[in-house]
This record gives sequence, structure tokens and C-alpha cells, in this order.
Amino acid sequence: MAVKRIYMDNNATTPLHPEVKKAMVEGMEIFGNPSSLHTFGRHARQFVEEARQKVASFLGASPKEIMFTGSGSEANNTVLSIITCSSKHCGSNLVKGDTIITTTIEHPCILETTKCLKEKGVNVQYLEVDQHGKISLDRLKDLVTERTSMVSVMMANNEIGTFQDIKTIAEIVHSKGALFHTDAVQAVGKVPVNVENLNVDFLTLSGHKIYGPKGIAALYVKKGVPFCPLIRGGHQEKGRRAGTENTLGIIGLGKAIEMRSQEMETEEKRLLELKTMLKEGIAAKIPDVRFIGHPTDSLAGTLNVSFDGAEGEAIILYLDLEGIAVSTGSACASGSLDPSHVILATGAPVECAHGSIRISLGRENTMEEVEYLLDVLPRVIAKIREMSTVYVRRAS
Ligand SMILES: *Cc1c(COP(=O)(O)O)cnc(C)c1O
Repeated sequence: MAVKRIYMDNNATTPLHPEVKKAMVEGMEIFGNPSSLHTFGRHARQFVEEARQKVASFLGASPKEIMFTGSGSEANNTVLSIITCSSKHCGSNLVKGDTIITTTIEHPCILETTKCLKEKGVNVQYLEVDQHGKISLDRLKDLVTERTSMVSVMMANNEIGTFQDIKTIAEIVHSKGALFHTDAVQAVGKVPVNVENLNVDFLTLSGHKIYGPKGIAALYVKKGVPFCPLIRGGHQEKGRRAGTENTLGIIGLGKAIEMRSQEMETEEKRLLELKTMLKEGIAAKIPDVRFIGHPTDSLAGTLNVSFDGAEGEAIILYLDLEGIAVSTGSACASGSLDPSHVILATGAPVECAHGSIRISLGRENTMEEVEYLLDVLPRVIAKIREMSTVYVRRAS
């Protein structure tokens, strides 16, 4: 009999919500170009705008402030690139200053972009985080000056789940007249996010992290803030992103958001209970473990844990043999054997960064599955430690 497959890697991507799948199957009939004036086009346009409306109202934004992009990565690249735009067509040479501030624990699509901006002469400053993955607001106050053009701080971290205090951060940033962006890909649909209340200028979300399709995301651009397109061409998305709209993806994203607005609250409560059970179970059954991330102010379904003397990659493979899918660090970093930049940023030792796994729970996970993991994991860790040349039991 085939092993039952248990998926606990929901921060990497999520399975489609059945309602999203249904909406998309129906949406496949819609082939008109939303920019066309005839009935086919207007029909497609209607679906695109309905989805935009759903995203906007979920975030407390106006539909005009929502643009669709091809991924969360693209949305983040778009925002950061605004500050190097000097085209008078965009008016973004209004952006003052020459400095970008971000954190050391951002997603690679931010960190690789700031690296590139640095090579182009932009001054980039990185905020470090404490052992729980939080930035220091005092340090931020010191760093932000009149020369700061933009600050980008993620709302919730994909590897360790830690939240940042986005509202306060936005206030500090705005007090010096800089623009503020938050990568909220892991937060939207899991906690209430209201752009007006948070007072952010840009916010990124992505479909496939919230039971929607891959290759579709949205960027909130506050009315009146400078903007410069990354992709130029036709007038789609009010000239902010050229290219015929991914109608089907947009329909899926709209539905995913609609489902989150119905299910988020009860679902996240349930995930927190499952995570607590998992965390307590691991602590009780396995010696020499270390939980990484903020103990309370973190994503309900995310648990990052390291086991002394056990390589993350080995744990993943052994668990996979038992039918359980979890991950090391982020999906984008795995595949390389470099230790996670996020775990290292928390000050954890290198061995710890090598040995940590991320268990990210989602709407399809059950208590039975958590029990099964708690049954399998102690055996797997013991087996790996037996083979380890470095594991020595901590004195207790
Ligand atoms: C997944 C993720 C992204 C990238 O989104 P894509 O749509 O996969 O490009 C960006 N930031 C965070 C925090 C993520 O978890």
C-alpha cells in the first residue's frame, strides 16, 4: 500500500482550496482579452475587476490601489526598483534620498534585489534581528533619516514565523518622509491586515501561499505615492504593469481571498492549537531541541525547530520516507546546502541553522497527522543522531 502523504510545508506553497479550483475550472471558459472592447473582452474584464474588488476590500484598500503581478517576487522587485527610476514619464524621480533600509531576514526576492541596487550605487542598510527574529525599533529610529528613500520590512517571516510591528515601523519611517513597503505574503489571509490602519505605502501578497494558484500576486500601491513600472508596454493595470492579465490566475486569487475572509479566523485558531500540541510533544519526547522564532508573536501554523546533531536535510529525507513533507529553511534556499540566512540572523549557531526544520501547517492538516508526526519524529531523530559523529547529549 502506498504511504499516506502528509503535507506540512504550507509556507512554501499551499494546495488549492476546492472552491478556488471550482472557480478556476469554470473560469477556463473565459478567454477574452480584458482590454478588448467587445463582449468577450468585457466579460473577462468583469471577472478581473470583481477579483480586484475582493482583494481591495479584504485589505481595506480601494480597487484602484490594487495591481496584479505575476508573483510576490515580482511585486517586491517592482517596489524596490521604484527608487532607481529616473523616467520623467513616471514621476518617480520625485523619490528623494538615496538610501534603502531593509532587514537581514527578508525573502531572497528582496535581498537579491537590494544587493543589485547596491551595485547600482544605492546605499542599502540592513536592520539586524534579535534571537526571536524581531527588529529593534530604536535601531530603526536611528537609521531612518531625511536621506532615506524607502524602507521595506516583512510582516511575517516565512522561515520562523515572527511578526514585526508594522504599524509602528510605518510611523517611524513616515516621520522622516520615506516610503514604506511591507512584504505581507505570509501574513495576509492569516491575520487581519488593513492597509489604512497600518498606514503602509506598498504591500505585497501572493496567491499560492493562501490556497490560491501559483504565478499570481497583488501589490497594494497607496493612492498618490510615486510609482514606476517594472514591465513596460500596454496600458494594463493602469500602466503599472504591461502584459495581458492572467485572467484565470486573477479569478483564483479573488476566490482564495474570499475563502480566507470566511475561514481565516477559526482556521488560524485551530492551527495554533495544532502547533502548540506539536511543540509540546516535541519538547516532551525529544531531548536537545531548540525552537527558533518568537514564542508567541508568530504565525499560528509555523514551527521552526532544530535538533542537536541532526542535519536538516537528513531529517527531511527520513520524514519523506515516512510520508511527511516538511522543509529546511525556505523552499528557495533549500537545494543549496548553505545554512539559512534567517536562522543565522537570529544569532543561532551554524550547526543550528543546518539542523533546523520548518513545519508549516495549513487548512488540510489534522490532529491525527500531528500525532503521526509526533510518533515518527523521535525515531527519525534518534536514528540520525546514532549515525552522527558530532552529537553529544547535553548535560541536564
Ligand atoms: C513565497 C514568498 C514570497 C514570494 O512569492 P512568490 O509568489 O512565490 O514569488 C515573498 N515573500 C515571502 C515572505 C514569501 O513567503
